[in-house]
Amino acid sequence: MNIHEYQGKQLLKGYGLPVAEGVAILKPGEAEAAAKALPGPLYVVKSQIHAGGRGKGKFKELAPDAKGGVRLAKSVADVVTNVGEMLGNTLVTKQTGPAGKQVNRLYIEDGADIARELYLSLLVDRSVGKIAFVVSTEGGMDIEAVAHDTPEKIITLAIDPEAGVTAEDVKKINAAYGLDGDAAKDGETVFPALYKAFVEKDMSLLEVNPLIVMKNGRLRVLDAKVSFDNNALFRHPEVVELRDTTEEDEKEIEASKYDLAYVALDGNIGCMVNGAGLAMATMDIIKLYGAEPANFLDVGGGASKEKVTAAFKIITKDPAVKGILINIFGGIMKCDIIAEGVIAAVKEVGLKVPLVVRLEGTNAELGKKIINESGLNVTSADDLDDAAKKIVAAVDNA
Ligand code: ADP
Ligand code: MG
Repeated sequence: MNIHEYQGKQLLKGYGLPVAEGVAILKPGEAEAAAKALPGPLYVVKSQIHAGGRGKGKFKELAPDAKGGVRLAKSVADVVTNVGEMLGNTLVTKQTGPAGKQVNRLYIEDGADIARELYLSLLVDRSVGKIAFVVSTEGGMDIEAVAHDTPEKIITLAIDPEAGVTAEDVKKINAAYGLDGDAAKDGETVFPALYKAFVEKDMSLLEVNPLIVMKNGRLRVLDAKVSFDNNALFRHPEVVELRDTTEEDEKEIEASKYDLAYVALDGNIGCMVNGAGLAMATMDIIKLYGAEPANFLDVGGGASKEKVTAAFKIITKDPAVKGILINIFGGIMKCDIIAEGVIAAVKEVGLKVPLVVRLEGTNAELGKKIINESGLNVTSADDLDDAAKKIVAAVDNA
């Protein structure tokens, strides 16, 4: 689960981390009061969407040379003008994809006097089984380019879970950034506090880009991207409350209600598969035959008829879907259950696109029989290759 920057900063503030003063707003009418509550004279108006790259992003509705999704404002009136231009419009960044994301919230923040922009993130480094700091002196808006062109400028420091962030670790991070004086002193509290927040809140990613050194020599968290481990959300009701479902794909929300592993994608062939590995292979083979999957969907090992029905409905409701491929290997999952679920779903929502079904494994014959006798317009396939070829051809000819 992801949260907005301003929510992440509020959470970090609770751990004593240095963040700027700011006010989140939902309506243009709130802009003036929000700005007046801040010290000024420099303000920043920041789009709150669950995607990075906002500063360099472009609003679809505005001229191509209009300012991006993070804007400096030099007066209260300037804040109000920028809010008027930004709120409700669609911001396209490197991370949103071409469709962009509608900006429904803005964060009005106190402007900082920046001396240096550093990169810091905390993540779970699976290769060493530890939480690691990833640091670079090259913070700001182009960390992807740094990772690509000069990867040696990015340093990873894994933290021993028993010891936590030691004085030695802090020294290493300070040295990597080249910090001294007040900034290095701030590092002694900032780095352990970030780690503490990460562990206590079961985060999966905490990215601060940039962490800044201000002209007065002090550190400040200027941006915060926070993701939580969904498997641990049950013990953080206070985190669940921060969820903004308007930022999530409707189909994914629906799928999560049924505990389906579903990810919406950009293609036009809907896939219903059991097992993540088989789902990946199915997507690969669709691509091999020149088409693109509309989704990743793993109905799971022991899916019920209800779950299959829900999954099928989610796929058929997607207007981008021009054909559906069901690829099931019955192990624990029985093919006849899948067949019944599909038929129940088609009866409820109808079937307007070609459907190719490949059933193999437990009760495969029974499953095929149920589908063949249902009167549905279904093409059956013998194996994965055959199935992918048939659905791609059916969509091409439609
Ligand atoms: P994104 O990473 O989505 O582009 P950031 O929050 O990192 O958004 O903002 C982009 C840039 O805007 C920062 O790298 C920084 O230079 C500037 N910026 C952001 N917040 C402030 C602030 N409060 N004061 C001054 N400059 C800011
Ligand atoms: Mg940033």
